[in-house]
Amino acid sequence: MTAITHHIPENLMIAYAAGNLPQAYALVAAAHISLCLECRTALEAHQAVGGVVLESAVACHVSAGLKSETLALLDAPARNEPVFRRAGVYPGPVMQALKGGPPRWKSLGLGVRQCILSESAQGSVRLLYIPPGQAVPDHGHNGLELTLVLQGSFSDDTGRFGTGDLEVADQMLEHTPVADPGAPCICLAATDAPLRFNSLVPRLLQPLFRI
Ligand code: ZN
Ligand code: ZN
Repeated sequence: MTAITHHIPENLMIAYAAGNLPQAYALVAAAHISLCLECRTALEAHQAVGGVVLESAVACHVSAGLKSETLALLDAPARNEPVFRRAGVYPGPVMQALKGGPPRWKSLGLGVRQCILSESAQGSVRLLYIPPGQAVPDHGHNGLELTLVLQGSFSDDTGRFGTGDLEVADQMLEHTPVADPGAPCICLAATDAPLRFNSLVPRLLQPLFRI
């Protein structure tokens, strides 16, 4: 893998460390952290700070027994603790979401495929498979979109994203990601609201494909 250059922004890392990220984003964050030493170190620092703050806060207000129980809980593996292993293309947290099986791809046309891992009113998370040179239709975002590259790379209006890189797109960004030449680009993408497609055809297909 080439060096990771796009990381989890500080505000998302704080929310993740506190367990406050919606599940779809938390999966993308966990998958990035499982691939990225820099963000793993940052997460550990945030978790340590959280523990210290609690340690000094609980000292004045609660009994010693409750305090040690609370701190013991903090030392136990967190529910969203990433699994630091990688089986081929899919990092541990993605393998867990796939329940160990291969992705069940559904065609979106033009060789683009998706596999929805989870979907709820709070957001959805999916794998996307984009053949080299193929574009994901030009779109804007109603909410926040996190995209983690698991294989290959893509480029859009903001730059190039290689394997392990995380792109954070919000309402301000309209972009047309295009898979670079080479291996097909496989991404893990989480959104909290439907994407806004700018051309009519994808907009018509949107309900069908649940993008
Ligand atoms: Zn990182
Ligand atoms: Zn997007």
